[in-house]
Amino acid sequence: MKYISTRGQVEPKGFIDTVLMGLADDGGLMVPEHIPVIAPETLNEWKSLSYVDLFLTIFSYYTNDEIPADDLRDLATRSYANFRHPEVTPITKIDDSLYIMELFHGPTFAFKDVALQFMGEFYSYVSKKQNEIIHILGATSGDTGAAAIQGVRGKEGIKICILHPHEKVSRVQELQMTTVDDQNVLNLSVKGNFDDCQKIIKELFGDLAFKKEYHLRAINSINFLRILAQTVYYFYAYLHIDQGQHQLKKINFSVPSGNFGNIFSGFLAQKMGLPINKLIIATNENNILERFVQTGEYKPGDFRSTYSPSMDIQVASNFERYLYYFVGEDAAKVSEYMNILKSEGQIVMTGDDLAKVQSDFAAYGASNQECLDMILKYKGDHDYLLDPHTACGITAYEKYQGDDEICITLATAHPAKFDEAIILCEIEQEFPEEIKELFAKPQYQEVVEHDTAEIVRQLESFYALD
Ligand SMILES: *Cc1c(COP(=O)(O)O)cnc(C)c1O
Repeated sequence: MKYISTRGQVEPKGFIDTVLMGLADDGGLMVPEHIPVIAPETLNEWKSLSYVDLFLTIFSYYTNDEIPADDLRDLATRSYANFRHPEVTPITKIDDSLYIMELFHGPTFAFKDVALQFMGEFYSYVSKKQNEIIHILGATSGDTGAAAIQGVRGKEGIKICILHPHEKVSRVQELQMTTVDDQNVLNLSVKGNFDDCQKIIKELFGDLAFKKEYHLRAINSINFLRILAQTVYYFYAYLHIDQGQHQLKKINFSVPSGNFGNIFSGFLAQKMGLPINKLIIATNENNILERFVQTGEYKPGDFRSTYSPSMDIQVASNFERYLYYFVGEDAAKVSEYMNILKSEGQIVMTGDDLAKVQSDFAAYGASNQECLDMILKYKGDHDYLLDPHTACGITAYEKYQGDDEICITLATAHPAKFDEAIILCEIEQEFPEEIKELFAKPQYQEVVEHDTAEIVRQLESFYALD
């Protein structure tokens, strides 16, 4: 399998090189040249696989044996051994039409751990094998940073710098990132919002000389490795809900979304032959994706702070990957659309194009009030405590639920990470030990202006240390 850029200006690459490249050198995103399609009989055989075996089976279609099978098994096993649940991503049945897949049993209590635990192991492996210096640089709305830092802290040959928006992440998110005292970790708290942070990162990765000189590597979902690792749980969920009872029902997924990475993994699983009926994009008041699906207008709006800060995103990086498949894998057309977005600040789809978008996705943006109402409702009706992101997912599920359908809503975070919202519902929760102990630890971070030059200075002195 080779990988190419959505903008068509990068020579086809192998798997490892694609991961190391992150953002494509032409400014696009890397995608597989062909998406493998899994036959229904084969899919059926996957039912008996454990999470790690399913992971390895899916990866085998993509990695070209660039990593020996035993090594890959070792990396995957180690990545998921850190999860607090033996099934890695267990599924809870709420009622006959709703299942919740809990993606928050990893070390930092959010779904980012599923891909980033593996990514940490992967980078560490490549660094040793290829004698590569790895300098991870990323922006976070809170959860990616915590998960990535946890994935690589203390690992030899790797340094990690994470930009997060100053005072716009939850208290627990901030503590998870900044209480890490390993020398290979730098936290920059940027005065601005997530989109500002992501823009700086894109700028630095777009400066190819800088990227090369400092061996910059990406952990954001612009990296195809993350997308691929996340497809595994879509398959796992589909294969592990109690299908005897549901044979005739269609299966939907509702996905709390920000950067479009998680939902794009679902889209990829669907393209690989997983019979997903509806992919439901759930957002909050930063509802660019909802507006796109309803009206065809993709236009970043004004930034809103909400109770689900990990989805406070206006510019969804992975949207470009969808666009690529939307235009029939025509890189020239993607470039044209991205140029229009840049010059006019929006992309508009009408007529048949809009109908196609609407056949690919449903979408709903929950208001702040709806989010809190949903947390209260599920606590009361089902004694299940939703985190505010998952509550947006459930709100969207309730809007789009059809007869003879069941929906698997992805629970993207543990409620303890977002106690700010839970308190507003006047619900008291018991924190897990791992989170409780964060509050007593000292924090390490630099507060900086959202200014690329200042961030470059910070990076240069961080990389000079050894
Ligand atoms: C990152 C995140 C999201 C959004 O996921 P994307 O892949 O960026 O769409 C949703 N919920 C939580 C808790 C997150 O951390």
